[in-house]
Amino acid sequence: MMSDAPRSLTVLGATGSIGTNTLDLVRREPQRFAVEALTANGSAAQLARLAVEVGAKLAVVADPDAYGELKDLLAGSGITAAAGAEALVEAAERPAEFVMSAIVGAAGLPPTLAAVRRGACIGLANKETLVCAGALMKREIERAGATLLPVDSEHNAIFQVLDRERPQGVEKIVLTASGGPFRTWDTTAMARVTPEQAVAHPNWAMGAKISVDSATMMNKGLEVIEAAYLFDQPIDKIEVLVHPQSVIHSMVAYIDGSVLAQLGAPDMRTPIAYALAWPARMAAPVERLDLARIAQLTFEAPDEARFPALRLAREALSAGAGAPSVLNAANEVAVAAFLQRRLGFLNIPAVVEAILDRLAGRQIPDLEAVFALDAEARRLAGEVLARQAVPA
Ligand code: NAD
Ligand code: MG
Repeated sequence: MMSDAPRSLTVLGATGSIGTNTLDLVRREPQRFAVEALTANGSAAQLARLAVEVGAKLAVVADPDAYGELKDLLAGSGITAAAGAEALVEAAERPAEFVMSAIVGAAGLPPTLAAVRRGACIGLANKETLVCAGALMKREIERAGATLLPVDSEHNAIFQVLDRERPQGVEKIVLTASGGPFRTWDTTAMARVTPEQAVAHPNWAMGAKISVDSATMMNKGLEVIEAAYLFDQPIDKIEVLVHPQSVIHSMVAYIDGSVLAQLGAPDMRTPIAYALAWPARMAAPVERLDLARIAQLTFEAPDEARFPALRLAREALSAGAGAPSVLNAANEVAVAAFLQRRLGFLNIPAVVEAILDRLAGRQIPDLEAVFALDAEARRLAGEVLARQAVPA
């Protein structure tokens, strides 16, 4: 696998938290990788700088308004600039062996699917893609012979310790959760949470949306759905365990009583390095785990009364069909409204529940249906927000 030829690589969402961590590893072993394309939403200046640094062939901004700036910045560099939704998909279609899927939200679905359809090896950070189109993604992966390597730390941990050859031996999967910044807060205090407090995660430095999801524990709900699709497990075999130190990234329990876990410092460069080098390993400059210093690992059951997002995600997974897509779309709208101070923190799951109730039972036989349902859930969530005008 790791022959002398460099591994060609495209990073979707190159300017984000996962994207920049990926490029940090690439820059440390430049002989090992050849960067094909980098994409971003609108941050043309940052994207241009990254593209020049790693010698990408193509740089794409999703937002057409950012094209002029990107083109000017890349003039004379030999790097092609492009913009728009189609260019994003074309970037994923380029013949890179490995694609890091690190766009946030359902916006990552079209380019990720394009990479799947040409049979690429995909490092999947963009969990929303699996949540909103899990069954479809799995069909396409199978058909195209694509490889999906989970980058989400919990799923990467499970991937490393799960005996996929002998699934009968697996009793359950245990997804660990930090519990987020409000793990010990009462609901009175949680009702007044600000965006600044919600994005300040105790253990992980991440993008704003996933940080809010971690604070509501919707992130763990999305991850239960992600695990169900990735590892073909029924909902009753996926357990969530709060582990505030984020040292054990997840576990698999076997029928003989064995429990296998993957441990590490909370640094996404470990699962990213795992995916980048798979099936080999590459060095990652992360803090080494010093268990004597950490001394204690603690665990507790999640509190679904204070964190109803977990229950909602389980209900959506049980309902099946389009329910997880609806959950995801409504959550994206509610989180954006919270970040803009148009919605109170505790009302994020309330909005999601209202939309799930309205759109229960929708089917998503094909990609068009996924997009239509996603759009409808977003429109309804927007209406609910406009009507209730909840103070932040
Ligand atoms: P981020 O907000 O830091 O970065 C998102 C990236 O996507 C940026 O490059 C941005 O320009 C791009 N983007 C945003 N909206 C877009 C759109 N509409 N079209 C095209 N590109 C768009 O997010 P992140 O924290 O890096 O998370 C990325 C994904 O990885 C998410 O799905 C998240 O759940 C997942 N993930 C992140 C972490 C983490 O530690 N950050 C851990 C596990 C999983
Ligand atoms: Mg995770």
